[in-house]
Amino acid sequence: MIRARVFALLAVFLALASPAAAQKRIALSFDDVPRAPGAFMTPQQRTDRLIAALRRAGVRQVAFFVNPGNLQQPWGAGRESQIAAYVRAGHVIANHTFDHPHLSEIGAAAFIANLDRAASWLNGRPGFRPWFRFPFLDEAAGDPATRDAVRAALRERHLHDGYVTLDSLDWLLDNLIGQAHAAGRPMDMNALRDLYVRTVVEAAEFADRLSREALHRQPIQVVLMHETDLEALFVGDAVAALRAHGWQIVPIDQAYRDPIAAAEPDSPFLGTRIGALASLPGQPHRELSPPANRIDLVTEAFNREVLHLPASAASH
Ligand SMILES: [Zn+2]
Repeated sequence: MIRARVFALLAVFLALASPAAAQKRIALSFDDVPRAPGAFMTPQQRTDRLIAALRRAGVRQVAFFVNPGNLQQPWGAGRESQIAAYVRAGHVIANHTFDHPHLSEIGAAAFIANLDRAASWLNGRPGFRPWFRFPFLDEAAGDPATRDAVRAALRERHLHDGYVTLDSLDWLLDNLIGQAHAAGRPMDMNALRDLYVRTVVEAAEFADRLSREALHRQPIQVVLMHETDLEALFVGDAVAALRAHGWQIVPIDQAYRDPIAAAEPDSPFLGTRIGALASLPGQPHRELSPPANRIDLVTEAFNREVLHLPASAASH
């Protein structure tokens, strides 16, 4: 008995002392599927490259959050085959509403009708998972009545919150690429890759630090990405850089079995699950987002590093 207790204590001590106990795990998720054509690729080219890049990188299972309404866009016709191709490649699909409304703008009833419309397209499809991701990560965090009405509706439908714990900010870079492309500006693609990869790694490292400080554990992180040309081009580089920083890429099914998946934080913080948990009453004041997620800083970095604009021009 005493010996068992000594061993148990020893095991706890070793777990605390060993650097091997540091466990940085992360899963990948991609929103807004199918997404509009990008600056460099058609939707079909992008899907083919993204699937190949994930396979080459040894990433077995990611989630694609679908907006079935996009299939009705002029560029969306026939894109069901793209979604089926992700599933055939071993990935899973989930609900991101029908056409991507802001919950805070349209209110609970219209929002719930919108997600039901997406569900009627998704339910029963191969690869479907009962997860729901809020467009713009807008859970009406500042409006508890709306927030709770949607949470109740999700529970009734057996849908689980497809939360994220960090943001790649790829949506911002994709916008900046689109503007530069439309203006005919040359882009330094190596610098673009490095900026994208740096943003992902810094956001992941920040989320890991925040988790250890606020939760005293290392939950499985979930990174928010989108189905953009950036991912088709550089997701393999991002995965390699994460691994070089000690991260293990895990299937998204495993990520959403983490204990933080069951939390329904009563926090006004809009955005990441860990940020919401780290800002609950009683927690000390902390930065909840990394500098790598600051729109002004990333835009400046894009102008300087990718467009090679002089600092004075870049500030306008
Ligand atoms: Zn979205």
